[in-house]
Formats: sequence, C-alpha cells, structure tokens
Amino acid sequence: MTAPLFKSSAAQKLSSHQTAHRETLCSTCGLCEVRAWPAKESIQSCVFKLGWLGEQESNVFGRERRVEDEDEMRFGITRRRFIASLKQPIAEAQWSGIVSHLAMRAFETKKVEAVATLHRSKTDYFFPEPVLATSVEEILAGRGNKPVISPTLLALETAYKQGIRKLMVIGASCHIHVLKDFQTRFDYIREMEIFAVGIPCVDNIKPRKLRWILERISRSHETVRHYEFMQDFNVHLKHENGDLEKVPYFSLPQELAQNSVFAPSCMSCFDYLNGLADITIGYVGAPLEKNKKRQWVMVRTQKGEDLLNLIEHDLEVFPETSAGNRREGVRVSAEQMMERTNLGEAAPVKTGRKIPIWLGRVIAAVMRRIGPRGLEFARYSVDFHLIRNYYFVKKNYPDLLQTLVPKHVYKILKDYGFKA
Ligand SMILES: Cc1cc2nc3c(=O)[nH]c(=O)nc-3n(C[C@H](O)[C@H](O)[C@H](O)COP(=O)(O)OP(=O)(O)OC[C@H]3O[C@@H](n4cnc5c(N)ncnc54)[C@H](O)[C@@H]3O)c2cc1C
Ligand code: SF4
Ligand code: SF4
Repeated sequence: MTAPLFKSSAAQKLSSHQTAHRETLCSTCGLCEVRAWPAKESIQSCVFKLGWLGEQESNVFGRERRVEDEDEMRFGITRRRFIASLKQPIAEAQWSGIVSHLAMRAFETKKVEAVATLHRSKTDYFFPEPVLATSVEEILAGRGNKPVISPTLLALETAYKQGIRKLMVIGASCHIHVLKDFQTRFDYIREMEIFAVGIPCVDNIKPRKLRWILERISRSHETVRHYEFMQDFNVHLKHENGDLEKVPYFSLPQELAQNSVFAPSCMSCFDYLNGLADITIGYVGAPLEKNKKRQWVMVRTQKGEDLLNLIEHDLEVFPETSAGNRREGVRVSAEQMMERTNLGEAAPVKTGRKIPIWLGRVIAAVMRRIGPRGLEFARYSVDFHLIRNYYFVKKNYPDLLQTLVPKHVYKILKDYGFKA
C-alpha cells in the first residue's frame, strides 16, 4: 500500500493546540490521514494531546517506570537488555538488520500476516512511503532509515480494510504511542493482535529540511546512502561508492545547532528509547567497534520475548558495557544550548564551522578515549535530549508542559541542578 506523502495534515485543521504564533505539534505519524474512520477520532489518540508515557506506560506494563532506578528511568521498563549483531548482517540495513530479520521471521512463521513499515520513495532516497508489507520481499525492501518524520500508521488503513488479524508495526515512539492508544480507544483495530517493534528516535526533521541539512554536513549530499550520529562523536555518512565520510559533531556548521532545524514535534518528544514497544532495537547503548554493527536490544514485554525467540539463534549476543562519565558533557552541552536559546530569534544566526574539521577530529578522538561509552553514552544522549526538549516546550508550548512531560524528566533536571 502506498500513498502520496504528507498531504495537508488533518491535524492542521483539527488541532485545538494551534495558535497564530506557533506551529501545531504533529509528527505526521499517519493516523490522521487514514480515511477508513473519521480523522476527528484519530486525533483523540495523538501523543501531543495525551502526553508521553505516564498513564500509557501503566496501561502496557501495569506500572510506570521507577524514577529511583537510574537506568529504568532513562531506558524504560525492560525484561532484559543486551548487545547483539545478526550473524549474517543484511546488506543495506541500517545496522546489522535485526529489525528486518525479525519482521521476516515473524511473517515466515505466520506469527504475523503483515508488517506496517516504510519503503523508500521514488522522489528522494531518504523519503518514506508507508506500506503494508505482505511478502518477505516487501518486508526486506523496508530496511534502512528514512531520516525524516514518517506516516507509518497510514498502513493501518490497508490492514483494517484487508481484515488483517495479526500485525507487526515497526515504528518510532510517536507511532507506538498513538497506535497503542487508538487500539484501546476505538473498535476498528481492537481485535487485531499487534506486535510493536520500536526503533529509538530523536532529532527528526521535516522532509523539506533534509537536503538543506545534508548539504551542510556532507561534501556530496546527493551520493549519501546512509548516515547516523555515532558514539564516536562523528556523523558517519556512507556514499554510494562505499566511501565513509566522518564529520566531527564539534565541527558541524553552526546554523545546524539552531533548535528550529528539528521538527517542533521532535523537540517536544520525551520517549527517545520507545518505551511502549514490545521490543526496542537501536545502537546508542552498544559499544562502537569497527565493522561490527553492534546493536542494543531492549526486550520489554512477553510479546517482545516471543518475537526474540524467533531469531535468538541468529544473533551473536554480548553483555552491555559502560565506561566514562557523562555528567560534565551533559551539563556543558545543556548550558551551551540554553545560551543559544536565550539569544532568541532576533539574534543573527551564525553560520559556518566554528571549529575546523582537523580540530574537531582531535576533540572527537579524545572524547572517544575518555568520554562516555556504551551505556554511559546512551545515558548522556538521553539526558541531554530530555533537558533540551524540556526547555524547548517550556519556552514555546508552556501550556502543554504539564501534559507532555513525564515525571522522570523532572528528576533528571534536578540531578543536574537545572531549574524546572
Ligand atoms: C530519525 C531516526 C533517528 C534515530 N536515532 C537513533 C538514536 O539516536 N539511537 C539509536 O540507538 N537508534 C536510533 N535510530 C534507530 C537506528 O538508526 C536503526 O533504525 C535501528 O537500530 C534498527 O537498525 P536495523 O539494522 O535493525 O534496522 P533495519 O533492518 O534496517 O530496519 C529499520 C526499520 O526501521 C524503519 N524505519 C526507518 N526509518 C523510519 C522512520 N523515520 N520512522 C519509523 N520507522 C522507520 C524501516 O522501515 C525498517 O522497518 C534512529 C532512527 C531514525 C529513523
Ligand atoms: S501526530 Fe499523528 S495523531 Fe497526532 S496530529 Fe499528527 S497525524 Fe494526527
Ligand atoms: S523524535 Fe519523537 S516525535 Fe519525532 S519522529 Fe522520532 S519518535 Fe516521533
């Protein structure tokens, strides 16, 4: 199933959040574009109306995450976590391809009849086309990131019309939040057995910004086929001829440090690690080892265990590791961010690299040796993004602060001595 991308969102017409001065929060998750039921029902399940985690987390796990548990507070409720790679990595997957492999096995073993995922659009290699995949080939074609906000849930319309009873949905946390609420709120997909496979997601952007950003990061943005912000403090960009270009975070052009680069929805997102999914599969907590494609697996529910059982023998598994200390890095990054934000929109946007690439490389090399690694890198990234997003919402959507922000964010602010 394919659909035209990013039609004028029903959310734009329906949201009561909209004012003349600010943009409606919507990550174009796709539900409001479904025509099989009224959009005014879909929007009732919007995470930007209901908020992140909290009650939704209790509905899934029977309790909320414990703020007394330093890791559960950040990573969400899990039954087990570990590092893994597929023994036989899938070519052109984002990492080793655990997500696609899992989806293909679930389909082949008839655990699910279809998979809601994304194909690549013909318009741009990195743009998504929502799809209900009903063959191994169609599932495999979904591999790899589409690094823009994506309407995955539009595929629910096809699943509903086809009378699918067992469905896998691969999504970012906004997709999984909206999906879980909609399934319990209305009858349309209530009886569907849904397996939610989550990817971590942060700092996402609108499709129209993608090329502007890539042009500023890469020496040849048209040939980039894979890019990721990596644990070695570099952006890694792989080109179609196989070349790997590395750009240190510290040398990114200053115009990319503006909060307005990211979608407002993604600056108002408080579930980086997809805490409601049955299983979350990312990389940020895994050690970075050359050509190893290590991934980070978080099994959250019994359904997640059942899915993992399908592929466990295909994985090389390793324990989590952790080294370094994140605290100073989080504090400095958060303070720099606040300074920039306080300058306000009237201040001229600085452009170009403040730190030349050669010096950025030196700093990245030092950070890689002494900075946060493994789980500590994940804690660093989670803490920084929660703090930054808190201040973004406080400044731009103060009336939504109470609804959107989960409890553990206040604990993290307090831990670093930042004011709520
Ligand atoms: C914008 C973005 C930011 C991310 N940031 C982080 C991060 O900071 N830390 C981290 O650990 N992981 C992050 N991830 C997830 C990570 O990059 C991998 O997608 C994940 O580890 C799965 O790898 P894989 O090889 O198993 O996936 P594959 O087997 O290649 O499968 C990837 C699956 O994700 C789906 N997908 C791709 N793009 C999107 C999208 N935009 N929305 C919903 N579904 C999508 C694909 O259709 C496919 O089904 C991010 C992903 C995205 C899209
Ligand atoms: S995020 Fe999804 S549910 Fe919310 S307004 Fe946008 S399309 Fe609708
Ligand atoms: S950052 Fe959050 S809101 Fe934005 S696409 Fe990812 S999960 Fe959705």
